[in-house]
Amino acid sequence: MPTLIFDPMTTFSVPVTGTDAAIPVSRIFCVGRNYAAHAAEMGGEVDREAPWYFTKSVAHAILSGAKVPFPSGTKNYHHEMELAFAIGASVFEATEAEAQAAIFAYGCALDMTRRDRQQDGKDHRRPWSLGKDVENSAVFAAMTPAANFGTPTDQRIHLEVEGQSRQDASLAEMIWSPVEIVRHLSRYYMLHAGDVIMTGTPAGVGAVLPGQTITGGIEGLDPISLILENDG
Ligand code: MN
Repeated sequence: MPTLIFDPMTTFSVPVTGTDAAIPVSRIFCVGRNYAAHAAEMGGEVDREAPWYFTKSVAHAILSGAKVPFPSGTKNYHHEMELAFAIGASVFEATEAEAQAAIFAYGCALDMTRRDRQQDGKDHRRPWSLGKDVENSAVFAAMTPAANFGTPTDQRIHLEVEGQSRQDASLAEMIWSPVEIVRHLSRYYMLHAGDVIMTGTPAGVGAVLPGQTITGGIEGLDPISLILENDG
């Protein structure tokens, strides 16, 4: 074993609500446009052929309740409230039953986005990294085991900025269910325990400003919050 020349970055884990346990996160996959009304507000149509994805670095993940700097390089930093879930078993080319069994826990998440940099990427047909893979942009609340939460059906999903409602929808509006996402994504990746998937955001995304507090929730799951520091 070689001597490491600096300490490795601390690993990131998401607590399992009501326990001392936590889920170590290895990869973060994000589903694009999984609610028709959000696809419309982004100027697009829903592709019903297949879900599609982008990724976020685990190094950019933080826990709910954090107070973080407002990111550099954007004048249009957006909130996206999402249902996330954690994989708890190795699965490849999953059947419906295997996909169902592989979902270990559900939780609230925020997919914070430099919308202006994402738009640059779209305009120039370039990758979305500056828009989506932003430091402190993958926010997770404690997760609830699937055995306790049940199945995402028509639970309310909502987000507020400074207490004002911005997003308010139902998980029933999701185009691709978590089981369908696992079935599809596992055709391209060997999914393992610790992989986390963010399932897309409903309509109502919008900008936040330095100093503002974001809160959100999904019926039956622990709520989520994020505080953006004032500039300077
Ligand atoms: Mn998103």
